[in-house]
Amino acid sequence: MLSISQSALDGLRRHGEETYPNECCGVLLGKLEGEERRVSSVARCGNTRSDSPQNRYNIDPKELIRIQRQARERGEDVVGFYHSHPDHAARWSTTDLAEAHWIGCSYVITAIEGGLAGRTCSFALGGTGEEDKCFLDEEIEPFPSAAPPESR
Ligand SMILES: [Zn+2]
Repeated sequence: MLSISQSALDGLRRHGEETYPNECCGVLLGKLEGEERRVSSVARCGNTRSDSPQNRYNIDPKELIRIQRQARERGEDVVGFYHSHPDHAARWSTTDLAEAHWIGCSYVITAIEGGLAGRTCSFALGGTGEEDKCFLDEEIEPFPSAAPPESR
């Protein structure tokens, strides 16, 4: 199961709407505790795929290292990744599996239909390595975001 704050979930869905008809991508940040993944925020990434941005995504490795470092300073881990499927179902493709390398992390896919966020699904990358890795369906469980500071 993937626990995710409502604001992080809204944030990644909005990101997909903004980059439509191209794919968006980003990183899920929070806590990894054994089997439990809890996302408190998302970091948006630029999609570096210029050849086919409608159905492929790629996160710049340098950007990922920077995001990881900033997360660690806040005591957070990389819990997974997200991307959008413009006008396609929120199901993983063989390319998505081939390009997923973080065993134990969650891969969230949100469908964007005609510019509006549709279904959002999450898949945990199981297995022990590149030979037997596989995506496992997992529930997304949103939790309320921390209340914003009171305005004066
Ligand atoms: Zn995909």
